[in-house]
Amino acid sequence: MEKILNYINGALVEPINNAYLDNYNPSIGKVYNQIPDSNEKDIDLGYNAANEAFSGWSKTPKEERSKIMMRIADLIEENLDELAKAESMDNGKPVKLAAHVDIPRAASNMRFFATAILHYASESHEMDGVAINYTLRKPIGVVGCISPWNLPLYLFTWKIAPALASGNCVVAKPSEVTPMTAYLFSKLCVEAGLPKGVLNIIHGMGPSVGSPITTHPGIKAISFTGGTATGKAIAKVAAPMFKKLSLELGGKNPNIIFADCDFDKALKTTMLSSFANQGQICLCGSRIFVERPIYEKFRDAFVAKTKQLKVGNPNDADTNLGAIVSKAHLEKVLSYVQLAQEEGGTVLAGGNKVQLEGELSEGYFMEPTIIEGLAFDCRTNQEEIFGPVVTIMPFDTEEEVVDMANSTEYGLAATVWTQDVGKSTRLGASLASGIVWVNCWLVRDLRTPFGGVKNSGVGREGGFNALNFFTEQTNVCIKL
Ligand code: NAD
Repeated sequence: MEKILNYINGALVEPINNAYLDNYNPSIGKVYNQIPDSNEKDIDLGYNAANEAFSGWSKTPKEERSKIMMRIADLIEENLDELAKAESMDNGKPVKLAAHVDIPRAASNMRFFATAILHYASESHEMDGVAINYTLRKPIGVVGCISPWNLPLYLFTWKIAPALASGNCVVAKPSEVTPMTAYLFSKLCVEAGLPKGVLNIIHGMGPSVGSPITTHPGIKAISFTGGTATGKAIAKVAAPMFKKLSLELGGKNPNIIFADCDFDKALKTTMLSSFANQGQICLCGSRIFVERPIYEKFRDAFVAKTKQLKVGNPNDADTNLGAIVSKAHLEKVLSYVQLAQEEGGTVLAGGNKVQLEGELSEGYFMEPTIIEGLAFDCRTNQEEIFGPVVTIMPFDTEEEVVDMANSTEYGLAATVWTQDVGKSTRLGASLASGIVWVNCWLVRDLRTPFGGVKNSGVGREGGFNALNFFTEQTNVCIKL
């Protein structure tokens, strides 16, 4: 059985303890390769390699760093088919989605930060003939990047790219649930000539690999994307060590549909914002609020379209939903359907595991699910489910829907459908959310601030925000 390897000091290596974990293909429900079960000793090796490489990499001219990153981006594109198939096999998502979204975005992440660093400038403050101050932005040193399973290579590169571009060396941990494309990426880094030690990718579990990254005294900044509970645990250990922290956490996003919306566009996009990637995108709109005059019309059309979605083989071009990422996660998502019914909800579509045939008979498939009749403040409407399950509710006034939308502990993304500019600007201001999309969803400009408020996170990624995070400032004041 194929073994995934760690990438440390420029080489693909076995974990020190030679222990491995099983890696499952969720579409067939079977182990298909093995992943290093690394521990703090591998993190020490990775850290030492990164620390050694730092002096060279941080002094490498930006143009040279940029060129190497552009080569990595080119290689991602040249290997798009292989990477998309690997992402699908590891995560369960349709190959088509990985080929159109995940892998192209990984290349864009590398290219975006490879060029952003060339345009990165800092401030100067002149003091009326007394002195001039200028701000130096220096790389931090060795930084840690930890990412989740839902958009594996997409989110892994979203962190690594700005860290490397700004001259840091990295110890990175992909999710143990979806390690494959990070492994293929490490091979591409070798091929592109990334100097040894600049990036170290170490595989394994959260407690044995993620935790030693966050507690390592030499790793001075942590960029983390994952669940809110894990973010809280990381903050608890990293804050007293005065590490810089960027936390991108969970969401429970509202999708607000006003009666004056472009109905067809709202419906078409709601299909995606509800069920793309099996609903396993932190930005999915899982609470749908529809203004009462169009509630029944929208609900019926949405239910009808949802029933037509195909749950099936991720390799088929006409598959809309592939497999849920793991057996444990499928069980968690199904338990929320049960909870919703206990809380008085009615399942309008889906609600069940899907039994496919042949090779896929043991796979973790689930119907796209719509639930009606729940109070906005019940558990189903307050807790992150992170699967193909949405709730739908009517509302009467703008004030009421803003209150319901803002009622959760989360505040990552919101979607608003209206033709009224005044209403969209008012909601843009009153929704407690890091991102508000009006008449669209998941339209991403990589220059914009990305992140959440409340328990959805701390800090912002994207554009110069990410370069600011991965640099330390020194103000130099020169007396005139
Ligand atoms: P998770 O928190 O379980 O794991 C994320 C990563 O953290 C994994 O690599 C895991 O191994 C590691 N980890 C686990 N315990 C750790 C510890 N104690 N110390 C350090 N690292 C540890 O999250 P997940 O289940 O992989 O991902 C799903 C979650 O991610 C959802 O809550 C989703 O909303 C969130 N997410 C957020 C964003 C965003 O941008 N805000 C994007 C994608 C996913």
